[in-house]
Amino acid sequence: MAANSVFDACVIGAGIEGSSTARYLASRGKKTLLLEQFPLPHCRGSSHGQSRLVRYGYPEPFHTALMPEAFQMWDEVGKKAGRNIISKVGLLTLDRPPYDEMSKVITNVRNVGQECVQMTAEEVNKCFPGLSVPPEECGALEPTSGYIQADIALRCLQEQFVEYGGILHDGEKVLNIQPGSIVAIKTSKNCYKAKSVIITVGPWVNKLLKPLGVQIPISVQRMSVCYWPVTQPELYSADKFPGFIVSKPLGKTQHIYGFPILEYPGLIKICPHNGLEIGDPDLRDVLPKEKDQVFINRVAELIKAQFPGVKSQPSIVENCIYTVTPDHLFVLDRHPEFRNIIIGAGFSGHGFKMAPVVGKILSQLALGEKVSYDILPFRLSRFSSFKVIKSSL
Ligand SMILES: Cc1cc2nc3c(=O)[nH]c(=O)nc-3n(C[C@H](O)[C@H](O)[C@H](O)COP(=O)(O)OP(=O)(O)OC[C@H]3O[C@@H](n4cnc5c(N)ncnc54)[C@H](O)[C@@H]3O)c2cc1C
Repeated sequence: MAANSVFDACVIGAGIEGSSTARYLASRGKKTLLLEQFPLPHCRGSSHGQSRLVRYGYPEPFHTALMPEAFQMWDEVGKKAGRNIISKVGLLTLDRPPYDEMSKVITNVRNVGQECVQMTAEEVNKCFPGLSVPPEECGALEPTSGYIQADIALRCLQEQFVEYGGILHDGEKVLNIQPGSIVAIKTSKNCYKAKSVIITVGPWVNKLLKPLGVQIPISVQRMSVCYWPVTQPELYSADKFPGFIVSKPLGKTQHIYGFPILEYPGLIKICPHNGLEIGDPDLRDVLPKEKDQVFINRVAELIKAQFPGVKSQPSIVENCIYTVTPDHLFVLDRHPEFRNIIIGAGFSGHGFKMAPVVGKILSQLALGEKVSYDILPFRLSRFSSFKVIKSSL
């Protein structure tokens, strides 16, 4: 397709959300352009790495409601590619009194027809000898959940987008979006026109939105992805140990999560669910790393207390970025003024698993179709300060 023709849609940002949106649009026969600032693949945003947890179990029913179709769509992507994208090793959520999170998780999982087994601390420790949880802790085990092979999933979406006829340009940064019934998109290399634009640029979202008069209250956090040496690998292999979330680690409120031994032999990935506020994603690898230690230490304390076969000094620490909204809910909405500009942002450290459904929702908004899900919780206007004075339209 010639660069000067009008695309049905232009998706900006080829992370998991943008790639999934672009694939969905192209699979529907829409002329779609996907633009990515960095050469692909890259590890500068939020969607790289080999593993992400996938589960039905959320305390909020509107999150769980997205998951049956997300699982089904991941399955379709995997079948088309001849790859296994999801490994159902099980997902264990651990909670402490008053068990508020766990009881909601169990109800919501069962309401979508999936199994969820409630376990006492004694049952958890017996079933998973790699854990030693205290008596007051309880577990909810989802046997049909597990982890996504993240890098493979991302690559499959991008390859299938191109197979469906989509045009993918990487190493091409979007500099400016000029709204209108046909939107003009200026990049570092060219100018394009599209009937609608979908902005899925992760932690860079406010940079692109500012000239369009919108800012989302997000916290951009550098996450420490930690791999810890195991002394008893047989306890933590993927055939014996599940993915897990400790919702109140040692009584604290920020989650810690992890996987069985996967990508690096002899190392187990256990990570904090919060990180250092860095403001600008372009500073991720520039700012000194000492302050990350406080988050890593929290995980080390939990490991010392509850993981008898794991050493409490990480061998590898990698980085990734969370884009966190104040209520930890996504933004899936139209621009308040320019209705053919769609925003998918603020995935708050839990958006990978839902990406296929997010892509469907953002596509439906872009195409002016009825959206298949209740997206009221994800509206932009829930933030009172989302509009700013337009500077350069
Ligand atoms: C360590 C870690 C662990 C996680 N664990 C889980 C988990 O277990 N389960 C789960 O469901 N989720 C998890 N998540 C969250 C999930 O990975 C993210 O929600 C998701 O990857 C967000 O994707 P995105 O497409 O919004 O952002 P990104 O992946 O950051 O993609 C945005 C893209 O836009 C590009 N871009 C930016 N500006 C421009 C521009 N001007 N022009 C062109 N391109 C541009 C960027 O280069 C980038 O490639 C985790 C995230 C991290 C970091």
